[in-house]
Amino acid sequence: MFVGMGASKVRDLFKQAKEKAPCIVFIDEIDAIGKKRDGQYGGNDEREQTLNQLLTEMDGFEGNNGVIILAATNRPEALDPALTRPGRFDRRVPVELPDLKGREDILKVHARKINVDSDVDFHTIARMASGTSGAELANIVNEAALRAVRNNRTVVTQADLEESIEVVIAGYQKKNAILSDEEKKIVAYHEIGHALVAALQSHSAPVQKITIIPRTSGALGYTMQVEQQDKSLLIKEELENRIATLTGGRAAEEIVFGQITTGASNDIEQATKLARAMITRYGMNEEFDMVALETVTNQYLGQDASLACSADTQKDIDQKVIATIKEQHKRAKQILQENRKMLDCLAQYLYEKESITGEEFMRIMEKGGIE
Ligand code: ZN
Repeated sequence: MFVGMGASKVRDLFKQAKEKAPCIVFIDEIDAIGKKRDGQYGGNDEREQTLNQLLTEMDGFEGNNGVIILAATNRPEALDPALTRPGRFDRRVPVELPDLKGREDILKVHARKINVDSDVDFHTIARMASGTSGAELANIVNEAALRAVRNNRTVVTQADLEESIEVVIAGYQKKNAILSDEEKKIVAYHEIGHALVAALQSHSAPVQKITIIPRTSGALGYTMQVEQQDKSLLIKEELENRIATLTGGRAAEEIVFGQITTGASNDIEQATKLARAMITRYGMNEEFDMVALETVTNQYLGQDASLACSADTQKDIDQKVIATIKEQHKRAKQILQENRKMLDCLAQYLYEKESITGEEFMRIMEKGGIE
């Protein structure tokens, strides 16, 4: 509401607030008016006046006059220092993504509004929904309810919730996607490649589900791994294993078909990000030791990072990123070659079933094949 003639609107707002005290003034997305003033000629005068007025009003509070100011932002680092200085806002409350327990609780809150089957296991759902925000969890519950209705049921089941997590992560199932038989076979090998490399290494999250049903996000299939618990610390070996797992899909294609496809594009992106972070942010390269080569500029929105090193070093980083990925890719290929029979057997099984659970996958692995 402050956009356009902001200063007078701020004055008006605080006048009303004082009349109505005790009350709470809540300013959402405060960075819209509270951004750092750049002080350059021709800056946004209008916005600066609005911010100045807000600062004046906040200073004008004498003791406890019953008006509490709350504000929210996704970009705390972009706020003008005058706003964040002690005495303006007394407290900062960082709202991080919910942890496992938090996700479970949030799911239960949203599930209260719908009819849920008595045997739904929210703990499992929360584990599968790792990395999701409160809004996404609300969306998952909503999607599950819609799915139940579409299937003419009045109760939401575990399967509804699990499927809706996949919808949130990967989009809807594409009902009429046309994959040729050959393509389907390649995708099956690709996904089993990921799953096998993950399962045959230590320090990997267990495989929860493998599917080759195309999704509206463009994914032709995917392998879902779920950690038993949220992890705050990852050891170097775990990161390397993740990179190996990401290269496992392409590795399987190379071994079995002797040719490569575009199917690995997302894997490539993720593996590169991980390898780069290991070198530039986590100090996991011997030569660079504990030197920060990159800084995260936007903690809450997408974690953008910017390089903080010379052009020469950048070249060096690029080479080390390539070497890291090459090494893991080689390792993934080796793992699959050594387990070629298992790869064939599981890929055939997935090709026929299109979707298999982590338990089915492990059962076949442990028995050493399908009898
Ligand atoms: Zn892949």
